[in-house]
Amino acid sequence: MATLANDSTFRALRNFTNASLAGTGPVTMISPGKKQRTIIDAKNMQSTEGKIVRFEGDPATNDPAVDEAYDGLGITYDFFWNIFERHSIDDEGMPLQGIVHFGKEYNNAFWDGQKMTFGDGDDDLFKRFTISLDVIGHELAHGVTEDEAGLVYFNQAGALNESMSDVFGSMVKQFKLNQTSDKADWLIGAELLSEKINGKALRSMSDPGSAYDDPVLGKDPQPKHMNDFVNTFEDNGGVHINSGIPNRAFYLAATNIGGFAWERAGKIWYETLKDARLRANTGFKRFANLTVYNAIRLFGQGSVEEQAVQNAWNEVGITTSIKEPLQYAH
Ligand SMILES: [Zn+2]
Repeated sequence: MATLANDSTFRALRNFTNASLAGTGPVTMISPGKKQRTIIDAKNMQSTEGKIVRFEGDPATNDPAVDEAYDGLGITYDFFWNIFERHSIDDEGMPLQGIVHFGKEYNNAFWDGQKMTFGDGDDDLFKRFTISLDVIGHELAHGVTEDEAGLVYFNQAGALNESMSDVFGSMVKQFKLNQTSDKADWLIGAELLSEKINGKALRSMSDPGSAYDDPVLGKDPQPKHMNDFVNTFEDNGGVHINSGIPNRAFYLAATNIGGFAWERAGKIWYETLKDARLRANTGFKRFANLTVYNAIRLFGQGSVEEQAVQNAWNEVGITTSIKEPLQYAH
């Protein structure tokens, strides 16, 4: 297991080195606790190469997309370092690259395995994708998930991959705002929707399905319970749809435990992400069981945390069961 874990790190680094040789960024590795950000302006081309417009330590540029990407990557780095002692995406100090002004009126942001790429939005549906800190955290968390668990981007494993990004993205925003879980809005992309859209965000973790209802955008399709699980071939098997179910489970666990989400529920989710029993094709049920194992390992059998995690999954229609030995695998 340790060999496999190392292997994925080396692969990530190799990819990075190749990219660097191709001229998309620096190769310097940096010491733990220090971040190295590079923001590239794609100048509305659909390319992830372009001019470096802000490097670590450079002053603000007055281009909001550049500065929001720079700040957002920094806060996300700080969150993972301060809370989990994770040194960047790969825990090996991988420099953080953000591409802004990708494409023309491009209505999305994505993680391509090495960089975070942000469109400007068309201002009809969406504003620029750097405007929401949780969306930046979401993209970076895809890198963390890829490095730790390699959850395939399809069906339930893909919905878990998406949910992980919402869970950590939302916690990054809560960390920045110093919010306890009862004070958080649990919305993803609240700043992102244009004024023309009837909605409050891209997704709601506390109440999936309620984020928007709009003539152009349609209605938020997320279920919040297994009874409403959507079987579809669209959206990679509903990865952005069924993620509502594990999203709500995390929200329930965090708010039932109380305090800052990252102190206990977030720690359980993070340790589950690093648990070697979380395989690339893991579905909701197995993931839920692993969160219970990790709650027990971290906080003890019969603890408030274990109970809150079990109750959270129950409430979204997933009954957890513990059959395997309780040792930690990493
Ligand atoms: Zn995503």
